[in-house]
Amino acid sequence: MPDLDDLYREIILDHYRSPRNSGELASPPAHRVEGFNPLCGDEVVVTLLVEDGKLADIKIGGTGCSISQSSASLMSAAVKGKELEDVQRLIGTFKEMMSIHGSSLGGSTNEGGRAIEDGPAEEAEPIDLSKLGELAALQGVVKFPVRIKCATLSWNTLAQGLEEARTTTS
Ligand code: ZN
Repeated sequence: MPDLDDLYREIILDHYRSPRNSGELASPPAHRVEGFNPLCGDEVVVTLLVEDGKLADIKIGGTGCSISQSSASLMSAAVKGKELEDVQRLIGTFKEMMSIHGSSLGGSTNEGGRAIEDGPAEEAEPIDLSKLGELAALQGVVKFPVRIKCATLSWNTLAQGLEEARTTTS
C-alpha cells in the first residue's frame, strides 16, 4: 500500500536528481541573489527576471543537501511565470507551512536567522495544502527543525530578490 511519505520522498528525490530551471540567467537584466545556510552549508543562487508584474523567468544555481536543492527546484517550478502577487502569496504560504508545525513542536524556529524576516501577512489564512501541489511534499521537513532552514533558504533568497527587483526598478 503506497505511503504518502514514500510519495513525498519520491517527489523530493526527483527534484534533487533532476532540478528544474537549473542554471543562471544573464545578469543584468536579471537580478542575482545568493543565499547561504551556514547550519548545513547549503548555497543557492537565484536569478530572476521581472516583467510586466510577473516573474517572467527564474533559474536556480548552487549546491547543498537534498532538501535545499529539491526545495529550490520545486519553488522554481511553482513560481515561474506567475504574477508577483501570487508569488508573494506562495512564499508566505510556504513559510507558514514551515513554521506552524515547527513551533508546535516546541522548537524555536527563527533563532539565528538572517534579517530577511519580511513579516508575511499576519492575517493568517488556513494553509490549503492542495494549493501547494508538489510543494506539500516538503511539509515533512518540519518534523526535523534543523532542516527547516534548508527548505526555506531558496524562498528567503527569492523574497530578497523580489524586494531588490522592486526597489531598483526605475
Ligand atoms: Zn541543507
